[in-house]
Amino acid sequence: MKLTILQIALPCPLRLSFDYLPNNAEITWQIGMRVKVPFGSRELIGVIVNLKKANEEPNTAKLKTIIEAFDQQAILSSDLLSLTQWLSDYYHHPIGDCYQTVLPKKIRLGETAELETETYWQLITPLLDIKLGKKQQALITLLNEYSEGLSQKFIYQQLGQCRTSLLGLEDKKIISSFQHIRQPLINHNPIEHCQLNEEQLTAVENVWQSRNDFSPYLLQGITGSGKTEVYMQLAEKMVAAGKQILILIPEIGLTTQFVERFKQRLAARIVVLNSAVSDGERKQAWLLAKSGLADIVIGTRSAVFTPLPNLGLIIIDEEHDASYKQQDGLRYHARNVALIRAQRAKIPILMGSATPSLESLYNVEQLRYQLLILNQRATGASIPKIKLIDSRGPSANSGISTVLYEAIKTQLSAGNQVLLFINRRGFAPVLMCHDCGWQATCSHCDARMIMHQRRNILCCHHCGLIQRLVEKCPTCQATDLKTYGAGTEQIEHTLQAYFPDTPVLRIDRDSTQKVNAFADIVNKIRQGGAKILVGTQMLAKGHDFHDVTLVGVLDADQGLFSADFRSTESLAQLIIQVTGRAGRGGKKGEVFIQTSQPQHEFWQDLLKHGYPYTAKKILAERKIMAMPPTGSLCVIRAESQDESLAMKFLSDVSALFHQATQQEVIVMGPVPAIMEKRAGRYRAQLLLLSQQRKPLHQLLDHFMQAIGALKLTRKVRWSIDIDPLDLL
Ligand code: ADP
Ligand code: ZN
Ligand code: ZN
Repeated sequence: MKLTILQIALPCPLRLSFDYLPNNAEITWQIGMRVKVPFGSRELIGVIVNLKKANEEPNTAKLKTIIEAFDQQAILSSDLLSLTQWLSDYYHHPIGDCYQTVLPKKIRLGETAELETETYWQLITPLLDIKLGKKQQALITLLNEYSEGLSQKFIYQQLGQCRTSLLGLEDKKIISSFQHIRQPLINHNPIEHCQLNEEQLTAVENVWQSRNDFSPYLLQGITGSGKTEVYMQLAEKMVAAGKQILILIPEIGLTTQFVERFKQRLAARIVVLNSAVSDGERKQAWLLAKSGLADIVIGTRSAVFTPLPNLGLIIIDEEHDASYKQQDGLRYHARNVALIRAQRAKIPILMGSATPSLESLYNVEQLRYQLLILNQRATGASIPKIKLIDSRGPSANSGISTVLYEAIKTQLSAGNQVLLFINRRGFAPVLMCHDCGWQATCSHCDARMIMHQRRNILCCHHCGLIQRLVEKCPTCQATDLKTYGAGTEQIEHTLQAYFPDTPVLRIDRDSTQKVNAFADIVNKIRQGGAKILVGTQMLAKGHDFHDVTLVGVLDADQGLFSADFRSTESLAQLIIQVTGRAGRGGKKGEVFIQTSQPQHEFWQDLLKHGYPYTAKKILAERKIMAMPPTGSLCVIRAESQDESLAMKFLSDVSALFHQATQQEVIVMGPVPAIMEKRAGRYRAQLLLLSQQRKPLHQLLDHFMQAIGALKLTRKVRWSIDIDPLDLL
C-alpha cells in the first residue's frame, strides 16, 4: 500500500501548507479533518487540505508524523473547504489563518464536534384526575403544550427551580426524563403575519420565483417600509420548503429586537450567532446548523461561515453597514463572501437597506443585481423633514444651538422623547492651557487625549492610554485649563442641567460596557415618557423607539471634511438612518442637523433630492477618479516601532511591483498614514488601484512570495487589505 502524505493548513503566518505523515494507516484520511501536529517546539491544530501519494514526494524521510486526528470525517463540507480556499486566494491571506476565521473557537481548538445534549421532560400518561400540588399542576400545564418535551433549563426559566416537583411527578409515572440534543425551542403559536402591500408582495414574489438560481437582489426600502416583513415571509416560505436561511445583521448592541420578531412570527428553529453568544453556545449553534437542525441562522459578520447543508436563501440586512468588513487579520467583507456562497449554492441573496452602499447601487446599474423598491412606510407614518441649523449662529451651551434647544424643550413638554447624536465619547476632545498653548496629547499616538470628566481621566481613543486628569498645565503650571468641543458626556451633563426633571440617558461604548447595560438602557427608553437620549452612532441603527419625535445631529461637519474617500457616502447614510429614528410611532417627527456649512452642496442635494440622488452623484465622482466601486483598490499597510522601517519596507514592496511591465495597476506611495504614530508604532501605506479587478490580483499573486521573502518582513508588521473600507 502506498503511503499517504497529509498536506495541512496550520495557524501560522506563513503562506504555505505543510506536509506530514499519518500516525495511523487504518484511518481513511479525508480533506477537511482536524489534526494535531508537532511544529517547531509547539503543537498546532490544523486542517487537512490535500492528500498526496508518497511517491510524488522524494523526501518523505524528513517528514514528521502527526500527533492525533480529531475527526472521523471532514469537519467542513466541500463547499466550505473551497470557500476557505477562495478566501485565502482573494484576500491574499495565509490559508491556515483563514481556517481560524471560518471555524468556531472550540472547534479549532480541537473539541469534539458532537452536539451537546441536556435533560428534557415529557408527559407520559394522559392527564388523570389526581390531586396535585400547585407547582406540579403548573408543570403539567406547561408540558402539555409541548408534546415533544421541554428542556429542564427552559422549565426552570418559566417556573423557577422545581426539581422536587419534577421528581415527584416522575415517581407517580406522570412524566419522564430523557436526554436530548440541546436546541432552541420552536414557537408553536406564531403570531399571524400581516397582509403585505403591493411593493412588499412584488419583492417576496421575485425572490421566491428565483429560488433555484443565483440571483442577487438589492431591496432598497426607506426605514419603516417593511423590509423585515419581507425577510420574514420569505423565511417562512423557505422553512416550509425544508430550506435553511442565513440572515446577516450588523454588529449593534442590540440584535434582540430583530431576533424576537422572527421568533414571534415563525415556527422555526432559530439560532443566533452574535458577539453576546458564548463559545460553547456558538459551537452548539454551528453544529445544529451543520446537521440541519437549525432552520434559520441569524448572526453578525462571521456567521457567513456557518455550515448550512440545505441553504436556500441568504439575507443581508443593512447591507451598507461597515461592520460587515473585518478590520484586522483576514480582512474579509461578509457581503462579498455571502455573494460567493450564494453563487456557488445557486440560490438567491437579498440585500436590504434604506441607504444602499455605492457598491450595490453600482451593481444594480451594471445589471448584476435586480433592484426591488419599497417606497411607502408600511405603517403610513410620514418620513420627517430635515432642517439644517447653522452652528455658527446663537448657541445655548456645549455647542447646542438655541434653535435646537427650543425644539427640545417643546418636544419634552409634550411628553415626547428626544434623540441626540454626537459621534464622540467622553466630555471634551481638547484640553488646553490658555497661557502657553499646551495640549493634552497621547505619548504613543499622533492624537489628542480625550477628557472623561466622570472618571476623572484623560484617555486616548486610539491606543487606550489612560492618565489622571491634570489640574495644572504640566509646562507652565497655570491652572486655568480649558476644554474645547463636546462629547456625549458633556452633552448629557449640559442637558441634565437644563432639564433637571427629565431623565437623560447616555448611550455610548462607555455607558454600555457592562453585560446587559445596553438592554437595560433600551428597556428604560421603551418605558416611555419624556426622556433625552444622547448617543453615538451606536444608536443610529435598527432601533425602533416609538416615542422619539425629535432627532438632532450635533456634529455633522466631521463627515464633510474627512480625508476618507467614503466619508460623504457614510455621512449621507448616517443622516438618512437617524432620520428614520424619528416619528416611527403615530407621532410626527422632526430632524435637526447642526452644520457650519448649511450652504454646502452636499446638504442641498441630500435634503432636496434624497439619498438615491446623492448616492448617484457620489458614484459619478468615484467613476471619474476610478475609485471603488468602479475601480479596484488594495492597500498594503506596514507599521514598526522604528520610525523609518515601515516606509522602507513598503518602498521595497513598491520596487518589486515596479519590476513588472504592466500598466493597468497604478502603484501609489508609500506614504505615512494620516495618523502616522499609533500605539507606539509608525504606520505607512502603499496603494494599488486598477480599473479592473483582475490585473490587481494578478500583480499581487505574482509578487506575494517575493514580498514574503523581503528581509524587512521580520522587522515590520504588515498586512494586505483588499477592497479596503477606509484609507485612514
Ligand atoms: P423596515 O425593516 O423596513 O424598517 P419593518 O419591517 O420593521 O420595516 O416595518 C416597520 C413597521 O411596519 C413594523 O412595525 C411592521 O410591523 C409594520 N409593517 C410592515 N409591513 C406591514 C404591512 N404590510 N402592513 C402593516 N404593517 C406593516
Ligand atoms: Zn501652560
Ligand atoms: Zn494613544
